[in-house]
Amino acid sequence: MARLPIRIYGDRVLQKRAKPVRQVDAALLELIEAMIETMSVEIGAGLAAPQVGESSRLIVVGAGGDEDGEILRLINPRIVAALGSQDSMEGCLSLPTLRGQVQRNEEVAVKATTPAGSEITIEAAGLLARVLQHEIDHLDGVLFTDRADLDSLCWLLPDADTEDGYRLEPTTMKEAQRCFARMRRKRAGEGGSEP
Ligand code: ZN
Repeated sequence: MARLPIRIYGDRVLQKRAKPVRQVDAALLELIEAMIETMSVEIGAGLAAPQVGESSRLIVVGAGGDEDGEILRLINPRIVAALGSQDSMEGCLSLPTLRGQVQRNEEVAVKATTPAGSEITIEAAGLLARVLQHEIDHLDGVLFTDRADLDSLCWLLPDADTEDGYRLEPTTMKEAQRCFARMRRKRAGEGGSEP
């Protein structure tokens, strides 16, 4: 199963509203498994199809999954109920190493179709609820920086001198945008297919 390249901030597919999935076929199942492979290699908590260039309403969620640590494969997911609030630092594979404080609902109920075709409802709280809201946002072209407290934006940088091996360096949305534009240009120069 191939690992897919992750689309970076500034790529138009990340700003588009994704299309509903009409049919679960072999190509879709293959895409789901490739997304899971990509998510685990990139150590993401979840991944939405637009992040790998597919404008389809499809997400996979690893971190926090259910009690068995099972990976969720959700087709046409939608939030049907939301309650309370939580405030925490958030990141995204499409905005590498950027972090920001984002307020989310503490609990959500999500309805979706599974690859086997059943309609399910997931009730989630805490981290899983956060990841579900983040990934479903991707399907509407919404990124965490659209919801973040922009004064809290920072880079998570490796730093061997700190206890956990990282340090946070404050940044601005403007600087982040420049950095991601450079990243995309560099990738295109290496033979990437992005515009
Ligand atoms: Zn994301």
